[in-house]
Amino acid sequence: MNDIAHNLAQVRAKILAAATTCGRAPEEITLLAVSKTKPASAVVQAFEAGHRAFGENYVQEGVDKILHFRQQGVEGMQWHFIGPLQSNKSRLVAEHFDWCHTVDRLKIASRLSEQRPAELPPLNVLIQVNISDEQSKSGIDLAELDALAAQVVELPGICLRGLMAIPAPAASYDQQFALARQMAVAFDALKVRYPSVDTLSLGMSDDMEAAIAAGSTMVRIGTAIFGARDYTKN
Ligand SMILES: *Cc1c(COP(=O)(O)O)cnc(C)c1O
Repeated sequence: MNDIAHNLAQVRAKILAAATTCGRAPEEITLLAVSKTKPASAVVQAFEAGHRAFGENYVQEGVDKILHFRQQGVEGMQWHFIGPLQSNKSRLVAEHFDWCHTVDRLKIASRLSEQRPAELPPLNVLIQVNISDEQSKSGIDLAELDALAAQVVELPGICLRGLMAIPAPAASYDQQFALARQMAVAFDALKVRYPSVDTLSLGMSDDMEAAIAAGSTMVRIGTAIFGARDYTKN
């Protein structure tokens, strides 16, 4: 096994253990392999180890990888945009990605819907919630969720699949769990209202266990699969 295949197996084992501990079926939790800053050759290794869902933070880098694999005729990959999205980049996301996790205003949602090519299925979107109320401007407050969701579900080019959050680092498991539970409660309420909602994107390397115990259905892991990122090259 190469390193990446080995790392993937370890991360999957951790997800299995976390799910088992809290009495959930491991199939309920999707692993998103975050490949930002990593070369296509690293993605190939994960693909060959059976992995299909990849997350990218930077629009142009993600599109370059998607086109690379499309040109090679590789099928079955699923690409998730998980970075902050500016309006002037929305077209690239709408035209190339399968999912966007970072919808946090109607303007972005409307643009993604209008710009989604008619021959593709609707773009799967998650509404990003700023659950830790940080300085970070990404994500809406939970109080704004109902109003935004009601508008997003009306847009024909996108499909509301659920919620995403990047909680601030918390000192303890209990704090991580408390934040994750707030997200899970909002997610459960949304699910009751909209049948398309089935995804809670929550949990990274440091808070994966708490997120899974709280009800996450998708964890986003980069470093533990692909190794440390080197930003000096860019
Ligand atoms: C980079 C990133 C991850 C993965 O982080 P690691 O620490 O490498 O596991 C997950 N989610 C988001 C939104 C990210 O930007």
